[in-house]
Amino acid sequence: MPPSLAETLPWIAASAALVLALVFRRPRTALLAYDLALGLLWPHPPSPALFPVLALVALLVPEARMNRFSAMLLFALPWLLAWAEEGVLAAAGGTTSAVLAHLSWLLALGQWVQKGEPLRFAETLALLVAAWALAPLGGAPLALNLSAGIASTLLFGGVVLTSYRLAFRDPLTGLGNRRALEEALAGLAAPCAVAMVDVDHFKRINDRHGHAAGDQVLIGIARRLRRIPGASAYRYGGEEFCLIFTKRSAARAEPALEALRRRIGRERLSVSGKGGARELRVTVSIGLAIAEGGPLDAWALRAKADEALYRAKEAGRNRLMRA
Ligand code: GH3
Ligand code: MG
Ligand code: MG
Repeated sequence: MPPSLAETLPWIAASAALVLALVFRRPRTALLAYDLALGLLWPHPPSPALFPVLALVALLVPEARMNRFSAMLLFALPWLLAWAEEGVLAAAGGTTSAVLAHLSWLLALGQWVQKGEPLRFAETLALLVAAWALAPLGGAPLALNLSAGIASTLLFGGVVLTSYRLAFRDPLTGLGNRRALEEALAGLAAPCAVAMVDVDHFKRINDRHGHAAGDQVLIGIARRLRRIPGASAYRYGGEEFCLIFTKRSAARAEPALEALRRRIGRERLSVSGKGGARELRVTVSIGLAIAEGGPLDAWALRAKADEALYRAKEAGRNRLMRA
């Protein structure tokens, strides 16, 4: 009898999740998709413990350590387990498997809470759905099929969403990147304000204290930019940031930026660089352009903010200039 659609779809979902996770270099998620297919969909798994054991292994091996060799070993693990059918795993009953399966999603949940990565959340949900099908639903074939399909779709969605987010985020500071800024500018309407913020003499910080210290300064500045009320902050590139104020917050942009500039100049940034831990005094220069109404060319407005920034540098740095 040919397999029904309900039997085929979960295989397609699991294969799609596996391939996408491999292409996007997410070996751990790929391993979980593989595990869903073998542990829940395979008609004759060597043991009910196959799924939870492989899931726990996938969660416990740090993803950064999964090189080509260890990943191949992990993918071969189910077959090694199958050979050891007479061993400990075969003896593990349904209850042990269910307990281990619940342990796996709890572990994934803990990792998500610790790291906050959305993909870890998708993995938690996928493992929860699979564990639920094993117990209390008792591993009925339809429940296993359905749960493997849902769990694989969650993994697939998790990989897609994570990659989408990565494409719009600057990895060092966590702010929106240049691509995100371009999208924000494209959707901008007056009234609004655009500000360019540039760290003063940043090259000196790198030269004196090392690039690692420079990176920490950028992270510290980004944290302060993110806290400005009514503004969205982006990393334009290097040590330059762009801030967008929309609607009513545009009128409050100048005092907010002036307060930011003073605060950054007053506070010390703690970094650990070449010569150990240090407190650095950092200043920024800011160029601001405001559009009060009428049709808007957002890129021209940003260029005006850039010109104002240039004037702030010329005038001696650590100051704000309006276009
Ligand atoms: P000015 O006051 O005129 O802005 O001088 P500046 O030294 O800040 O500007 P300049 O353009 O001469 O140097 C910027 C430096 O920023 C050069 C580059 O090596 C460094 N840089 C760019 N991106 C990064 C980064 O991600 N991390 C670190 N540590 N340095 C970076
Ligand atoms: Mg600079
Ligand atoms: Mg610069």
